[in-house]
Amino acid sequence: MNIQNYINGEFHNPASNKWIDNYNPSNGEVYGQIPNSGKNDVENAYISAKSAFPSWSLTTLEERSRILIKISELLEANIERFAKAESKDNGKPISLAKVVDIPRAASNFRFFGNAITQFASESHESVGQNAINYTLRQPIGVVGCISPWNLPLYLFTWKIAPAIAAGNCVVAKPSEVTPMTAYLLGEICNEAGLPKGVLNVVHGLGTSTGQAIVEHQDIKAISFTGGTVTGAHIAKVAAPMFKKLSLELGGKNPNIIFADCDYEDMLESTVHSSFANQGQICLCGSRIFIESSIYEKFKKDFVEKVKALKVGHPSEKDTNIGALISKPHIEKVKNYISIAKEENGTVLFGGNEVTVKGYENGYYLEPTVIEVPNDECRVNQEEIFGPVVTILPFNKEDDVLLMANKVKFGLSATLWTNNLKRTIRMSNQLQAGIIWVNTWMMRDLRTPFGGVKASGVGREGGFEALRFFTEAKNVCIKY
Ligand code: NDP
Repeated sequence: MNIQNYINGEFHNPASNKWIDNYNPSNGEVYGQIPNSGKNDVENAYISAKSAFPSWSLTTLEERSRILIKISELLEANIERFAKAESKDNGKPISLAKVVDIPRAASNFRFFGNAITQFASESHESVGQNAINYTLRQPIGVVGCISPWNLPLYLFTWKIAPAIAAGNCVVAKPSEVTPMTAYLLGEICNEAGLPKGVLNVVHGLGTSTGQAIVEHQDIKAISFTGGTVTGAHIAKVAAPMFKKLSLELGGKNPNIIFADCDYEDMLESTVHSSFANQGQICLCGSRIFIESSIYEKFKKDFVEKVKALKVGHPSEKDTNIGALISKPHIEKVKNYISIAKEENGTVLFGGNEVTVKGYENGYYLEPTVIEVPNDECRVNQEEIFGPVVTILPFNKEDDVLLMANKVKFGLSATLWTNNLKRTIRMSNQLQAGIIWVNTWMMRDLRTPFGGVKASGVGREGGFEALRFFTEAKNVCIKY
């Protein structure tokens, strides 16, 4: 199936008529083509967004909210179709797309449709100076949203929904390897009555289409989720133009397990936090640290559970682990497994490609558990972004804190303990934007989301996102 750019409420071929193959990761076959858009297409999308802005920015909050909630409802009504498309495009189990990706995309629109009606600004009385200040939070204008392939519609809409709720018009680019649901979203937006030009979706390569969005002089803000290297590049290009930037980047998150935790809950959740979405979630707990007294027991129990995970075709109901996103990506992940061996790591389970009958050219890999000799080896420091976790014992709280923080990333951390004082001590000191205690990936969309260090700049979620997508302007009136 071929897809097209969505510009000014209509579907268009790329100006150059150049196309890129779209692969199905579950069988390695090309199943469609996507536009290889260039500067012209981005310019057309910008012009369309610019023309829609005066009217959309003055559309009442009630009306904006109504349209966003309508989009949410239409996504829910089309969940089967969207989940199927997401699973085919990305290789993730359809069961996951159905309960996580698409419902969350719908929630993003519903949440920001409601949030915008509650978003308020401040006023400050300058006591003794006969003056009052009030702060306007005005939409920025045309903004750019660029998203990755691991949670395609989920992360695409996590940016678009607050951007348009706040009154901006958007030029957006999904990852070139997972464009399908972003394409289908255009139809839903039209059906929901989103005015033409408020959302424009341009497909193509990061280095050309994405780059053209970032380089565009009049696209005033960029919200980007993706790899740290790409984020650094975008920051460099955007900084001289003084664009507003939100960067949600990579992670290498510690999962710290103390002996006093609720063991069964921890075990269940740790399997999930290690391998959900084939381990391709920026929040996965890819470095597992276990208190020495339970290390051997954990090792045995964890490996047993991991062995039971079924690697299979994404459309099969009992598949736990689907296909990785692409040929180059599975090669990258396999290379890290080789590096682990060279660094004297012990592969306790996995490490091999899996052949799924009937889909022999798909990108399937066993969930892989590696016991590492120390925390400084490359597999413990670099983001692998696949179904690979490391395990390592620790003796003391201070030691594990040091190891947990001794990476360049700082996105999230998970703690398993029933000791309240330790929870607070550690949560205060862990270098991460998100800490989960006795749970993983539990999300409340009102909370700030984002990382520190090489995991990014800025926060998304709740009013933080609405603040990002608006400019604060203070008005001071002397009376
Ligand atoms: P990339 O950085 O490769 O790409 C992300 C997006 O940026 C894609 O749409 C890509 O397009 C585009 N892009 C690439 N180069 C440029 C450029 N020069 N200018 C503008 N846009 C560009 O990341 P991946 O898609 O590989 O995603 C995986 C990464 O995302 C991991 O590091 C992961 O940790 C991170 N991530 C972070 C999250 C967070 O919230 N912190 C959440 C999810 C993922 P194209 O794909 O077409 O090349």
